[in-house]
Amino acid sequence: MNQESLKLRERLYIVEVAQGLAITARHFFANFSRHAARSLGFKVGKGGTVTIEYPEERRPYASRLRTRHRLMKRKDGSPRCVACMMCETVCPARCIHIVAMENADPNIEKMPRVFDIDLGQCVFCGFCVEVCPEDAIRMDTGIVELASYTREGMLYHMPQLLT
Ligand code: SF4
Ligand code: SF4
Repeated sequence: MNQESLKLRERLYIVEVAQGLAITARHFFANFSRHAARSLGFKVGKGGTVTIEYPEERRPYASRLRTRHRLMKRKDGSPRCVACMMCETVCPARCIHIVAMENADPNIEKMPRVFDIDLGQCVFCGFCVEVCPEDAIRMDTGIVELASYTREGMLYHMPQLLT
């Protein structure tokens, strides 16, 4: 909406500001009276709004929430990944980068030398987890705070993903 299409009343803002304050005050007094009534032992139909003091206080996450990836390990600590490249291929964000190398174990053909995920590009679709034939990658760490001051900080390498 441009300035010309606003009515004079809206362009002065005074009425709009007063309306905003009235809504805020209405919610404040409604919540305050509900909490006060409940603390005095009265039955209140609708509970007052409760503020979650994040990050000290958190709501439990749903068990199937897709959170930061992790690479699964074998008993000897090596990655379970066999560098089949299926996750890299299926990733719609093209944010997985794998470089394969030969595995010393003759029963396993390959393993990753490099396994990077750029979480700055990841869309958390979970396709990489679904497609993996080895259950080598999961998104169940429960870690959702991934912010970084740099783009490089969003690039997760194999040692981080294995821990
Ligand atoms: S969750 Fe989706 S976007 Fe993220 S790395 Fe896996 S396949 Fe790619
Ligand atoms: S799909 Fe699984 S086994 Fe294949 S490269 Fe990805 S993590 Fe490794």
